[in-house]
Amino acid sequence: MNSKQYMELTEQNVLHTYNRFPVVFEKGSGVYLEDVDGKKYLDFGAGIAVFALGYGNETYNNALKNQIDKLIHTSNLYYNTTMPEAAAKIVKASGMDKVFFTNSGTESIEGAIKAARKYAYLRDGKADHEIIAMNHSFHGRSVGALSVTGNPHYQEAFKPLMGGVKFADFNDLESVKAQITEKTCAIILEPVQGEGGIYPAEPEFLQGVKKLCEEKDILLIFDEIQCGMGRTGSWFAWQQYGVEPDIMTCAKALGCGVPVGAFALNEKTARASLVPGDHGTTYGGNPFACAAVSVVFDLFESQKVIENVNKVAPYLEKKLDELVAKYDCLAARRGKGLMQGVVVSGRPVGGIVSKALENGLVVLSAGSDVLRFVPPLVITEADVDEMVKRLELSL
Ligand SMILES: *Cc1c(COP(=O)(O)O)cnc(C)c1O
Repeated sequence: MNSKQYMELTEQNVLHTYNRFPVVFEKGSGVYLEDVDGKKYLDFGAGIAVFALGYGNETYNNALKNQIDKLIHTSNLYYNTTMPEAAAKIVKASGMDKVFFTNSGTESIEGAIKAARKYAYLRDGKADHEIIAMNHSFHGRSVGALSVTGNPHYQEAFKPLMGGVKFADFNDLESVKAQITEKTCAIILEPVQGEGGIYPAEPEFLQGVKKLCEEKDILLIFDEIQCGMGRTGSWFAWQQYGVEPDIMTCAKALGCGVPVGAFALNEKTARASLVPGDHGTTYGGNPFACAAVSVVFDLFESQKVIENVNKVAPYLEKKLDELVAKYDCLAARRGKGLMQGVVVSGRPVGGIVSKALENGLVVLSAGSDVLRFVPPLVITEADVDEMVKRLELSL
């Protein structure tokens, strides 16, 4: 089939919930994707912050192949050989106490919400608890995760959503305070907002929220699905703020392409929340998914991936700042590590994204007016230079 036929067959049979760009990717190598016509694209999107290790990593691929031949799935009714290692690696990297594996980001959010509600229920026996979430946040598309997603446009047609959710402004401590009531059981936020437009939290904001949580025995949930797994220059973004969550969600780069997520609880929350019967999942943490998680952590260590983020990110920031200075249509840069956004003014960001694809560059948008750069974490300064070249052609 040629690319036109692939696209037509897709649209014929797949529910049209995405306005896809007219490109059919077939394979990948390193930081380049290749479409069915053999055209190569420098990938600064990484499948939306997923493919941190780049494509075709031999160790990663072999670990998955080996596990396929051994055992792909059993169920959570039994122990398996890859889950304990994968969980131990998340616990070690995060300092959290216990992990629950899921199949996606949104499912991790669901679990985090349930754990927080159960914790509050065990404390006061009531069943009317509230969660405070942030405006412009994104936590996923299932009804629970959508209910804490601060984007009315995504929510409107699907109401009534889960009750007991209040919204506050990100980086505005007073607005969070104003939403706290006797019923508040949790505050959920992304340390660096992703889909909303790449907004890093102010340190004082996170510290202030943590203090409020401690004073009122409210659980703090950090959504690290996009900003976690080394992307901002530490295993998890919150580690740079010195503000520990009670519950943390993870997905995207956790399996580097194998669909797997997790939520992790600190000791206090793990001890007094979900117990057998409260929560489950058929696939979550199966032998194949956990083999992926395990090898991802190993490769992050052996290939010094986080060191690379800290080495290349300042260079990417400098180059993006130069572009902002040079082009009138680029208004500002913000971000952390290899999670960067550039605000586009006076023209639609989608046009630049399309033009970049024509020029062999994958970049993403975020919010309504932000160009988003979330490349594989193994990029080099030469890759940044090449990206800039292709982006300038597209501006
Ligand atoms: C992508 C994302 C989600 C949802 O993850 P899915 O795997 O798409 O369900 C939730 N939170 C954040 C911050 C994300 O970036």
